[in-house]
Amino acid sequence: MAFGYEFINLNDNQKHERRVLLGWYASIAQWSALVILAVFQISFFFSWLADRALENARPSSPSFNKRGESKLMWMVKFRRALRRVEWWMKKPVNKNWGTRGEWVYGCVWTVWLLFLSINQTGNDYLHLTKRLGSIGASQLPLHYLLALKTPYSPVQWLTRLSHEQLKAHHQVLGRIIFFLFLLHASLYFTFFVLSGFLAKRIRDRDVILGLISIALFSIMSTTALGPLRRWNYRIFYITHITIAGAIIAPLYFHAHHIRPYIIEVCAVALFKQVLERFSLRTVSGTVKVITGTNIIEIRIPLTAGSSELKWKPGQHVYLTRPTGQSVTQRLYDSLLLRYQSNPFTIASIPAKDKELLLIARTRKGNTKKIAKLARSLASTTGSHDTPVYIPLTLDGPFGASTWLPDFTTFDEFLFVAGGVGATFIMPIYRNITQSGMIDCPAAPKVRFIWTVRKLADTKWAFRSSNEVEEEEQVPRSSVEVFVTRPSGPDLQAEEDAGSDIELEEDEQLLSTEEQMEKSRRGITLQTSRPEISSIVDSVVGKANGRVMVIACGPQSLMKELGYALEKWVNAGSDVYYHEETFGW
Ligand SMILES: Cc1cc2nc3c(=O)[nH]c(=O)nc-3n(C[C@H](O)[C@H](O)[C@H](O)COP(=O)(O)OP(=O)(O)OC[C@H]3O[C@@H](n4cnc5c(N)ncnc54)[C@H](O)[C@@H]3O)c2cc1C
Repeated sequence: MAFGYEFINLNDNQKHERRVLLGWYASIAQWSALVILAVFQISFFFSWLADRALENARPSSPSFNKRGESKLMWMVKFRRALRRVEWWMKKPVNKNWGTRGEWVYGCVWTVWLLFLSINQTGNDYLHLTKRLGSIGASQLPLHYLLALKTPYSPVQWLTRLSHEQLKAHHQVLGRIIFFLFLLHASLYFTFFVLSGFLAKRIRDRDVILGLISIALFSIMSTTALGPLRRWNYRIFYITHITIAGAIIAPLYFHAHHIRPYIIEVCAVALFKQVLERFSLRTVSGTVKVITGTNIIEIRIPLTAGSSELKWKPGQHVYLTRPTGQSVTQRLYDSLLLRYQSNPFTIASIPAKDKELLLIARTRKGNTKKIAKLARSLASTTGSHDTPVYIPLTLDGPFGASTWLPDFTTFDEFLFVAGGVGATFIMPIYRNITQSGMIDCPAAPKVRFIWTVRKLADTKWAFRSSNEVEEEEQVPRSSVEVFVTRPSGPDLQAEEDAGSDIELEEDEQLLSTEEQMEKSRRGITLQTSRPEISSIVDSVVGKANGRVMVIACGPQSLMKELGYALEKWVNAGSDVYYHEETFGW
C-alpha cells in the first residue's frame, strides 16, 4: 500500500484497542476547541489589564505617546505590533477568497485535525480511514454552534464576535469537515475496490447512508459558495438549512460510534429553537418609502419599560418580511419567520429616541416586497405622511458593536459611511457627540464623512426642527456629507420601483433637497467624492494619541479607506479600526 499503510487483519482485542483510540482522538479533537475559547478569554483579560495600565499612566505623562522612556512604552509598542498583525490578518487574500486570518486559522486547525487523524494509527489503513471520519464528525457540534443565530449564543459571548463574524468561521470549519469526510470516503472506496468488496458493500445500509451524507454535504458546500449565495440568497439559505437538518438522520445511522456527536448536534438545534422564542418579538410600527429615494423607513415606537430601550447603538435585528398581518402559529408563518427575514441595523439610539428606526435600501428580494407594501399602505390612507401601524416581527438584537472599546480612551474619531452604511455609524456618532464627551477642553476631535448618491438619501438621519429638540439636532461636530450624484434619478430606485412613482419622486426631488438644505444644521455639504486618503492623513497623520476609525459602506470605499489607513498602522500609529460589512 502507500505511505506505509496496509490492510491488516486484527483480532478482537486489537479491534477493541482501535475502537478506544478512535474515541479518544475524536474527543481530543472536540475538546481542543476549548483551548481556543480559553485563548480568547486570556487575551481579553490581558487587553483589559493593558488598557487600565495605560489609562492610569496617561494623566501623569502628557507626552506619553512621544516619550520613549516611559515605563509602559513597551506595552504601547506591543499593542501597536498586535494591531499590525491584526491588520495583516484582516486583509483579503483575493476578492471573495476570505481573509488571511481565516486562511491561517483554517490551515492551523486542519493540520491539527490531520495530526489527530494520523497519530497512533501505525500501519493500519482502516484505522486511518475510520479516524478521519470520526475526527470530522467530532467537529459537527462546534460547526452547528458557530452558526447559531441567536443573541444568546454562548460562542458569541465567549468570543465577543457577532453572528455575522462567526459565520465566516462556520464556513471555514465546514470546509475542513467536508475535506476530512471526503478523505474518509475516498480511502474506504479504495479499500473496497482493492479488496474486491465494492459490489457487495455498495448495497449495504451503512455505505449507502455514508454516500447520501457525502452527497448532501457536497450540495450544501456548493450552494454556500460566494457567487451562488450572492446570486440568490434565498436558494442558498433554504438549501443550507434544509440539508443541515436532513443530514442528521443518515449520519446517525451511518456509524454507531459517531452517534454521540450527532446527538450533540440535535441538542444544539433544540437549544436554538428554545432560544429563538426569547429573541423573537412582534411589535407595531410604520413602514414608508422616503420620497425621492429607494429607501424604506421603518419606525417602531417604544414604550417606557420596553426591553428594546436597552439595545446598543450599532446593533442589528432580523426583520421578517411584513405582510401587514400578524404572524400566527401556522406552519406557513413559522417558515416565513425562518426564511423571509433580513438583517437591518438599528439606526436610532433606542434609549434616547424612544423608537427603533430601521432604514432599508430596496434590493430585489424581500426589501422590494416591503417597499411595495409601504406604497400600498400609503395609497390606502391617501397620504405618504399618515402613519399606518402594522405588526412587525423582529429577531435580535445582534452585533459586535457591544464590544467596541471604551470611547473615552480615544483622542480622535474618524467615521466613514457610504449610503445606508450610515445606519451603523450615525447612532455611534450621535452617542459620542451628544454624550458631553466632546464638550470639555481636552475633547477628542470627531469627523464623520458620509457619501451618498443624492442628498435625499440622508433625510432619515436629520429630522426637521419641530420633530427633535434643538440641542439634539445640532451636534458640536458636523457631518460632512458628500453627494456624488447631486442631480438625476437614482438608478437603483428606477430599476427597483414602479416607474410612475419614480417620475413623481424625481419631480419632487429638487424642492425636497432645497428644503432639507435650509432646515438642516450640523451638516457640511459637498457635491463631489471625498478624498479619503487626504482625510485619513489629516486625521490619523496629525493625531496626538489613539484614533478610532469606524466605517461601513460599499466595498470600494472600504478598500480605499483600508489602503489609506494601512500606511499609518504600519508606521506605528495607534489606530483602532472597525469595519462593519453589510454583505456576505
Ligand atoms: C449585519 C447587517 C446589517 C445590515 N444593515 C442594513 C441596513 O441598516 N440597511 C440596509 O439597507 N441594509 C442592511 N444590510 C443589508 C441587508 O440585509 C440586505 O440588503 C437585505 O437583506 C437584502 O434583502 P433582499 O431580500 O431584498 O435581498 P436580495 O435582493 O435577495 O439580495 C441582495 C443582497 O443581499 C444579501 N442578502 C439577502 N438576504 C440576506 C440575509 N438574510 N442576510 C444577509 N444577507 C442577505 C444577498 O447576499 C445579496 O447579495 C445589513 C446586512 C447585514 C449583514
